Amino acid sequence: MAERGHPLNSVVVNKLEVAPGLMVLRVAADGWELPEFAPGQFAVLGLPAEAARCAAADADEERPNPRWMIRRAYSIASSSVAREYFEFYINLVRSGELTPRLFALEPGDRVWLGPKVTGAFTLGEARRDSHLALVATGTGLAPYMSMLRTILPTTHGRRISVLLGARNSWDLGYHAELRAMERQHAALCYLPTISRPEGEVRPWPGRVGYVLDLWRDGTVESAWGFPPDPQSTSVYLCGNPRMIDEMCALLTGEGYREHSRHSPGEIFVERYW
Ligand SMILES: Cc1cc2nc3c(=O)[nH]c(=O)nc-3n(C[C@H](O)[C@H](O)[C@H](O)COP(=O)(O)OP(=O)(O)OC[C@H]3O[C@@H](n4cnc5c(N)ncnc54)[C@H](O)[C@@H]3O)c2cc1C
Repeated sequence: MAERGHPLNSVVVNKLEVAPGLMVLRVAADGWELPEFAPGQFAVLGLPAEAARCAAADADEERPNPRWMIRRAYSIASSSVAREYFEFYINLVRSGELTPRLFALEPGDRVWLGPKVTGAFTLGEARRDSHLALVATGTGLAPYMSMLRTILPTTHGRRISVLLGARNSWDLGYHAELRAMERQHAALCYLPTISRPEGEVRPWPGRVGYVLDLWRDGTVESAWGFPPDPQSTSVYLCGNPRMIDEMCALLTGEGYREHSRHSPGEIFVERYW
């Protein structure tokens, strides 16, 4: 399966379905070197339309040209220090064009991986010494996994909180790794919350609600022992655009400003759609 000019230049080396419709996919370059990148950046994955869709997905709405390469951006979840493969954390959009095809891949299958990695959602944009609140819903956690895997071993004197929202506990794909990181690194505080506790198989012992609630009710202040404020803290927001809009409104009310290249601020945003 290849399109002229876009050979499937990479291979799936590992696929782990952590929950229905949620997977960790590792992709290695075949015969070329993965580029350097800064944690938080994204790469592009692609498959031709003739690639099979997974069984759980809806059928294609239209019949796409089979040679057409479908491409989408995915945040890299792996450390930027080890570049043996890129790890991605992907949510199945059943009616989507690319994710049903990515979910049909198995180890050994070929995929197109864009040779360029880009994106400004990186820690280099924030003040070097600022505390970090990394806020995500679902697969919006991916860039933070790369950041944490890369910087935690050398982080001292800076507090980092991960505020993660998911529907159910099984949608917290990196829960065990984040708990382990938290035990190993005093800088890190992992704060998961679920919004559908009534669907849990066993009672969920943790927080219930949205990440917005965690920010509003002082959970970060309790974890850090001091309140986050725009002078001391950079806030990263990634994933669902509705969560991002609501968090931006809340933070702006507290004096935080959205960051851009031309106008420095303390809120950094990556919208997935
Ligand atoms: C910079 C960037 C980084 C991204 N990183 C990731 C990532 O790490 N993991 C990831 O799963 N997605 C990520 N995305 C989203 C990804 O690029 C695709 O949009 C997504 O996988 C859907 O592709 P599709 O072809 O199956 O759906 P499409 O046919 O393109 O349908 C798009 C629709 O699917 C919905 N949608 C898109 N993304 C999601 C999602 N993650 N969860 C639920 N619904 C969604 C929206 O309603 C959107 O309008 C990222 C997007 C951007 C711009």
